[in-house]
Amino acid sequence: MPEGTIIKGIGGFYYVKTDSGIVECRARGKFRKSTDTPLVGDNVIIQLSENDHTKGSIEKILPRTIQLVRPAVANVNQLLVVFALHSPEPNLLLADKFLVAAESKGLDVVLCINKIDLDEDRNRFKELYNIYKIAGYKVIGTSCKTMEGIEELREALRNKITAFAGSSGVGKSSLLNAIDQRFSLQTGEISKKIERGRHTTRHVELLELDGGGFVVDTPGFSTFELMDISASKLQYYFREFEPYIPYCRFSSCSHTSEPGCAVIEALNNGAICTSRYENYIQFYNQLKNKKEWEK
Ligand code: GDP
Ligand code: ZN
Repeated sequence: MPEGTIIKGIGGFYYVKTDSGIVECRARGKFRKSTDTPLVGDNVIIQLSENDHTKGSIEKILPRTIQLVRPAVANVNQLLVVFALHSPEPNLLLADKFLVAAESKGLDVVLCINKIDLDEDRNRFKELYNIYKIAGYKVIGTSCKTMEGIEELREALRNKITAFAGSSGVGKSSLLNAIDQRFSLQTGEISKKIERGRHTTRHVELLELDGGGFVVDTPGFSTFELMDISASKLQYYFREFEPYIPYCRFSSCSHTSEPGCAVIEALNNGAICTSRYENYIQFYNQLKNKKEWEK
C-alpha cells in the first residue's frame, strides 16, 4: 500500500502527497472516534480506490516525531525564527523564547533577520548577526525587496519540514512568497484582515518546496509561553552555556549569582552575549516564580 504525507485537511478529507501524486483520502472510521486523528504532517499508509487512484483512505498513521499544538501539525523538524531589522523593531526576548522552545522540543533552528534593505550601513545587522552566531546558530539576513539572502534561505529549508515563528509584520508571509511565487500568501495587515474575514476557519497546509521539503503555511507562532519547562532545565536550552556548565563551582549552580560560576565568567569574557544572558535570567525568574505559586 502506498505511503505519503498529509499536506492538507479540509472537511473530513485529507490530501496525501505520494510519489505518484496527491490522493484525496477519507480517514477510516476508527480514526474519527479515537483521539489519534490524522494531522497535517503525518506520514500515513493509504489504500487507493480500485477504480480511481486519485482517491483513497488512510489505513495507518506512522509514528510521529513531534506534534505542535498551534498550528496543529505533526513532524515539524525545524523552526525558522524571523525578526526584522526595523519596523517592527527586533524583539530579542521573543526570539530567545522561540529558541528555548525549539531546543526543548529538539527542533533544528535557523534565524532569519529580514528587511536588511532598511539598514544601509549594516551595523545593526552585524550586531544582531553576531549575537546569534556566537550563540551557535545559523543566521541568514534576507530582504524580500532586493531578494538578498533568499537563495540561502531556500537552501536552509531544503528537505526539512519548517514552521516559521516571529511577531506579526516581520515578513513571514513575504518570505514564503519570495521563496516560491506560487505560494501567493497575503501580506500586510490590511489584506490579511480581509482574507481572515473571507475564510472563517483557517486550515493549516504544508507547502511543498521545489528542492524538496515543506513549509507550514500558517505563520502560526507569534507568541509563545514557556510553560512546561523547569527552571533547572532552562540552562540546557541556551546552547552556548553548555561548555561552561561543568566548570561552575556548584553543581546546582543556577548561573544567576553564585560564586565561581563559569557561565558568568564566560559572560564577562564576552564568550556569552549580554542580551542572551539577560533573557536567560528573565526566563529563569519567571519559571522559578511560577513553580513557587504552584506549591
Ligand atoms: P508577517 O505578518 O510576518 O507575515 O509579515 P508580512 O509578510 O505580512 O509583511 C509585513 C510588511 O512588511 C508588509 O508590508 C511587507 O511588504 C513588508 N516587508 C516584508 N519583507 C520586507 C523586506 O524584506 N523589506 C521591507 N522593506 N519590507 C518588507
Ligand atoms: Zn554557573
